[in-house]
Amino acid sequence: MTAPIAKLSFWGVRGSTPTVDPATWRYGGNTPCLELIAPDGTQFILDCGTGLRMLGSRWAAPSGGKTPETHIFVTHYHWDHIQGIPFFAPLYVENNEFHFYSFRSKYLGRDSLKQVFEAQMALPYFPVDMSAMSAKRKFKEVEGGDSFQIGENTITARWLNHPQGCLGFRIETPAGTVAYATDNEPGDATLDESLRELAAGADIFINDAQFTPEQLETTRKGWGHSSWLEGVKVARHAGAKTLVLFHHDPDSTDRMVDSILRQAREEFDSVFAASEGMVITLGAPGDRVQAHMPGTRTALRREAQFNAKVCGVTEGGKDFEEETIVRDLSLQGALISLKHLPRLQSELQVTMEAPGADGVQSMKLRGYVVRIDTGTEKGHIAVGVVFTD
Ligand SMILES: [Zn+2]
Ligand SMILES: [Zn+2]
Repeated sequence: MTAPIAKLSFWGVRGSTPTVDPATWRYGGNTPCLELIAPDGTQFILDCGTGLRMLGSRWAAPSGGKTPETHIFVTHYHWDHIQGIPFFAPLYVENNEFHFYSFRSKYLGRDSLKQVFEAQMALPYFPVDMSAMSAKRKFKEVEGGDSFQIGENTITARWLNHPQGCLGFRIETPAGTVAYATDNEPGDATLDESLRELAAGADIFINDAQFTPEQLETTRKGWGHSSWLEGVKVARHAGAKTLVLFHHDPDSTDRMVDSILRQAREEFDSVFAASEGMVITLGAPGDRVQAHMPGTRTALRREAQFNAKVCGVTEGGKDFEEETIVRDLSLQGALISLKHLPRLQSELQVTMEAPGADGVQSMKLRGYVVRIDTGTEKGHIAVGVVFTD
């Protein structure tokens, strides 16, 4: 008998508002949306931020169980957690059926999430109204403390500390447990305890890490978010195995998230920074949880053969140095010094040569001029290109 496997995919990891600036590209700019496929084939979607559109465009209906279903949990009604709904293509397909779960907001009353759907698609905010959404939708109200079963999986909801309320969800599958706790601020004793209960012994604990510990104590106090350090404390206290830093601040560049992750890894053994396209497998053999980037977000790739020396740190924490050959290179762009002045937003053919293991390698690429800087070097122009194929 093979061990049960669950697959957790990150479709949106950014907090507050989507970002499209290049400096945030690597971790990704879509707002919260996660997908968990349980061993019985049940598909869970956590939050409906802009990442939901991406999930919808690569839609694969749940499979595995006899009557596979999709269950969608919405933690709260802030824009970044609902704005993907009208753009989720599977909602416009008649045979699809979705089960939505969220809490009754005191600002909206009964059928809060249903009202959110209607409000989002009301004129003049959206070109078509609700009647275009032909998939079956069932809405269920849940609140902190609720616990229920879906297929082989147990779901628990807990209140978190966030303006206008927010729910955290714990999903226990036969392959492992995922605790999803975005949008929470530490400091309320009861809700801090809720968070620890949610994370207790979880294989994957996804926690809000929007702010730095310094911001959390000063300028961002009361904003309803947390830091990597608080996540580490809760993970330790609750005995969670892997911590995932989530809900990155829209002003956090990739480099800043790198630094946040580095600091967290100094304090806790198994930490990842949530990244768009990242997939975590639960229940796979081995002591450590496996996380992958299946490559959908990597840039244009080219086969190459460049001699290289690589220095790094092993899984076990030892420094290593090794000579190898780079066989495949991902290429986003380059800054090229030219005597000619190319037109901005025009195409350039760039052929590069480099000595490799089998003599000189030539690489031909098409670039698109995105930047021109005439003031750098006398007689030369600095030309920024993005490689397109
Ligand atoms: Zn949020
Ligand atoms: Zn929020």
